[in-house]
Amino acid sequence: MKHPICPRCDSPEAVKSGIVNDRQRYRCKKCGYYFTVNKLGKHIDSYYVTKALQLYIEGISYREIERILGVSHVSVMNWVRKYKIKAPEQTAYHPTYKILNHGELVEYIKNGGNLKGAGMMITELGDKYMMIKWKRFRE
Ligand SMILES: [Zn+2]
Repeated sequence: MKHPICPRCDSPEAVKSGIVNDRQRYRCKKCGYYFTVNKLGKHIDSYYVTKALQLYIEGISYREIERILGVSHVSVMNWVRKYKIKAPEQTAYHPTYKILNHGELVEYIKNGGNLKGAGMMITELGDKYMMIKWKRFRE
């Protein structure tokens, strides 16, 4: 996970601070709290659960979700089961995603051509934005 969020104060500004028990440890620059990425508070949990389920519904694979969010694909599978999520079968559209900072996002949207022929969802991800687009197969 590139930009972990502090479980105590929700700040996305944490710096790497050693490895503890095979887990990357971070220190929050704002409040000084130490945490490891797998030690997720309840609040953070629901943040990532929602993001993970959104991606799942959009047809993104467990492994890809793991790569995007930094939560294990096993956790994602458990959440899908727990919340009884069923993703519709997708054949005509396939999702692609980009992680952009605010400036890049503005630039991207400025170009109207990028918005044509595709659905789009933008969701916050730490201090960046994730944009999911759907493109029709066989244009
Ligand atoms: Zn903090």
